[in-house]
Amino acid sequence: MVREIITYPDKRLWQKSKDVVDFDEKLHSLLDDMYETMIAGQGIGLAAIQIAIPLNILVINLVDEESGKQNKEDLIEVINPKITAQEGTTTFQEGCLSVPGFFEEIQRYESITVTYQDRFGKSITQNLDGLLGIAMQHEMDHLNGHLFIEKLSYTKRKKFEKEYKKAQKNK
Ligand SMILES: [Zn+2]
Repeated sequence: MVREIITYPDKRLWQKSKDVVDFDEKLHSLLDDMYETMIAGQGIGLAAIQIAIPLNILVINLVDEESGKQNKEDLIEVINPKITAQEGTTTFQEGCLSVPGFFEEIQRYESITVTYQDRFGKSITQNLDGLLGIAMQHEMDHLNGHLFIEKLSYTKRKKFEKEYKKAQKNK
């Protein structure tokens, strides 16, 4: 089921999410809904708080470079993630389903080591870089109650606020 995505400045987006304890049927159906909502919104990542559920859950499904499609076999379901190591810096033009229509260059770690659980509670540790590493950091910020626009410089943030408000009014 496609759920409603909450958007900036909805204050629920600043909420810190809590760890998942039960890896049950309810979690599985939430993960399925998150996948459908992300695909319907044409996003490559979604955190549970973006559908107003404050749990440490995120999904990422990058676009396959060869086919230009989001193949479901590339879907990653991430529960209770923790970054245990990070290295280097990289920048990428990011967007967010909760800040529609806005894109900006954001600086992130170039590579990260992340430990998380899958939908059955099995622990997984991965080293991630490239777009996958960037997407993971972006989505984990959501779980901590942060948005990528907080990383903008003062001038860019001002410009964003002005343009975003104008765009919301014209909707
Ligand atoms: Zn986002």
